[in-house]
Amino acid sequence: MSASAVTEYQMVIGGQSVPASGGRTLDSVDPATGDTWARIPDATPEDVDRAVAAARSALRDPAWAGLTASARGRLLTDLAALVEEEADALARIETRDNGKLLRETSAQAHALGRWYRYFGGLADKIEGSVPPIDFPSVMNFTVREPVGVVAAIAPWNSPLLLATWKLAPALAAGNAVVAKPSEYTSASLIELAQLFERAGFPPGVLNVITGTGAGAGAALTGHPGIDHIAFTGGPESARAIGHAAADRLTPATYELGGKSANVVFEDAQLDAAEAGVLAGIFAASGQTCIAGSRLLVQRTIAEDFSARIVARTEAIRLGDPTAPDTQMGPAATAPQRERIAGAVERAVAGGATLAAGGRIPDDPALGRGLYYAPTVLTDVTPESEIAQTEVFGPVLAVIPFEDEADAVRIANATPYALAAGVWTRDVKRAHRMARALDAGTIWVNTYRAVSPLSPFGGSGLSGFGRENGMEAITAFTKTKSVWIEL
Ligand code: NAD
Repeated sequence: MSASAVTEYQMVIGGQSVPASGGRTLDSVDPATGDTWARIPDATPEDVDRAVAAARSALRDPAWAGLTASARGRLLTDLAALVEEEADALARIETRDNGKLLRETSAQAHALGRWYRYFGGLADKIEGSVPPIDFPSVMNFTVREPVGVVAAIAPWNSPLLLATWKLAPALAAGNAVVAKPSEYTSASLIELAQLFERAGFPPGVLNVITGTGAGAGAALTGHPGIDHIAFTGGPESARAIGHAAADRLTPATYELGGKSANVVFEDAQLDAAEAGVLAGIFAASGQTCIAGSRLLVQRTIAEDFSARIVARTEAIRLGDPTAPDTQMGPAATAPQRERIAGAVERAVAGGATLAAGGRIPDDPALGRGLYYAPTVLTDVTPESEIAQTEVFGPVLAVIPFEDEADAVRIANATPYALAAGVWTRDVKRAHRMARALDAGTIWVNTYRAVSPLSPFGGSGLSGFGRENGMEAITAFTKTKSVWIEL
């Protein structure tokens, strides 16, 4: 790609498109080709100050603060229509930035409108209450008010979807937002901010700053003008943000990683289980927080079922993520591919058997793309590193179990608790497992379904708090209790 073909992006602060005040930029690299395709500003602390000030001023601006809840809802539904119109273009940008299949980014981009519509619809249903207070001469009522300025921090694997999970409820509730996308995938959120402007959101209601986590991210999460931090990313960054938040007692919600178990019983419908296990781990090259990265399979069918999974894994076609027949794209970044390779090497050195993949493919057609072969490891012990630590890559660890109790024990024995899948035809077992598994989401005979209506989140190393559904509105509002002597 020639230098002139590189797109220069600017941040959005107070309705203006601006470069970083220091003039520095970061490269956005297409992981399928290794080419720099865009540049984004590397925000300074002064830029972050300006963005937070713009958001604070939007909170006081009658153009936003004076809107009725229904009018805010209408802006969000207008935005939904624009996002749906532009979904194909947004998907192409995301595939260019993170290497996910165009099929996958396209499905997500086309779904975004559902989030803006749902939360737009909730905007005028955020109600207080009238507690029947036991003082006869007093009236008490509660109102739910916006928390103020929300810092929304998103990772690179699903940049727009995970930003939307924060923006839609925060804005429905009347907050203003400063959003920071990942330094690897900032372009799509900048484009989305233009759609907010076209939909008629007043300047400063949504600001987008770009830059590194340690730079712009830390300046934002440590900023005294932030009232709530909504973060999706890895546990290391979460700890750094947690320390900064503790210093200022800023409330924060954390959506982090997982080591989710996909549990296949001998009575499962095995074709469906096979498809669910493969999509559970290999979608987005394994780079999803909900990846079903542990296959727990009942000992009686373990050998046969693992062989089916290995055969299907070896047949996965790697290639250009925009080509319709490609089944898996590259890793999103060079450090990410190194982490994946390192985790597989350590697992094999520790006694796991490499049953498929485990290498950087040598196919010349893949050029400088950051590909890693989809990998299956067998003979994995439940307490080993590969069974305990998120890889965030296309690596499936297979662990046999004896019976239901054994499956629950192994599934629950990690520091994470984000999601789990269960494959069985026994409805009682399905309910027992849903009750016994420690995870924020349980899928039975399906995997990966998410919706704006249903709360999503985890506990332990998977984070704290819930996104989506009414619970998201709760996170972005605070209750005021009003007492009136009659
Ligand atoms: P990351 O933690 O490296 O970065 C996430 C975001 O945080 C980026 O925007 C980054 O710039 C920013 N950041 C990093 N350090 C920061 C700091 N000190 N202060 C403020 N901001 C900072 O994560 P990633 O590599 O982009 O994404 C992968 C991780 O995200 C995985 O662990 C994955 O499981 C997790 N994830 C979770 C969910 C979920 O909903 N639970 C969804 C997708 C990804």
